[in-house]
Amino acid sequence: MLLKDGYKPRIKKAKGKEYISLRRERGEKELSLGRKTEPLWSFIQANIPKGDIEDLKTRLQELENNMITSLKDNHDTVAKLAADIKEIKKKQSKCKNDISNISTSVKFLISSAERRVRDDANGCVHLGQDGYCTLWYYGNRQWDRDQKEDVSNGKTCYRDNVKKNPEICASCPSFKSKGDKN
Ligand code: SF4
Repeated sequence: MLLKDGYKPRIKKAKGKEYISLRRERGEKELSLGRKTEPLWSFIQANIPKGDIEDLKTRLQELENNMITSLKDNHDTVAKLAADIKEIKKKQSKCKNDISNISTSVKFLISSAERRVRDDANGCVHLGQDGYCTLWYYGNRQWDRDQKEDVSNGKTCYRDNVKKNPEICASCPSFKSKGDKN
C-alpha cells in the first residue's frame, strides 16, 4: 500500500522487535516512526499522508526544543536564586554578629551612664535632688523628654531630667564625681 507522496510503510526487525518505517524507494533514507503497535500500524495504513507525518514530527521536535530551552532557563534561574539566597544568608549571619556586638556596646554605655546619675558618692555633683541636671540647660525645650522649666540669668531655660535619661550624661564633659576630692 502507498501513502500520500509515494511513501510506503514497512516493518523492520531489529533485535527481535518490530519497527515501522517509511520510504519511497529502495535505498532511500528511511523515516522511522518507532516501535510497531497494531493500532498505530492500522492507522498509518488507513489514513496518514506522508506530509502530515513530517509536519507532526517537525512540530514534536520544536516542542521538544522549546521544552529543553525552558527547562534550561528554569534551571539557570533556580541556580541564580540559590546563589542569591546563600549570599543573603551570609550577610544575615554577619548582621546578627554586628547587632550582637553593638548590643553589648550599648549595654556597657547604658551601664556607664547610669553610674553617673547614681545617688551614692559616684554620681555627678551637678545632679540635683529632683533628678535634673543643675549645670546644663537649653534656651528652648528640646526633644520629647522630661525637661523642667527654670530661670537662669533672668531668662527662661529648660533642664534635662538626667535621672530618667542617663544617656545625656554618658559623654558629658562636665561630669564630676561626688567622690572626687579635687
Ligand atoms: S554628667 Fe553632665 S549632664 Fe549629667 S548631671 Fe553631670 S553635668 Fe549634668
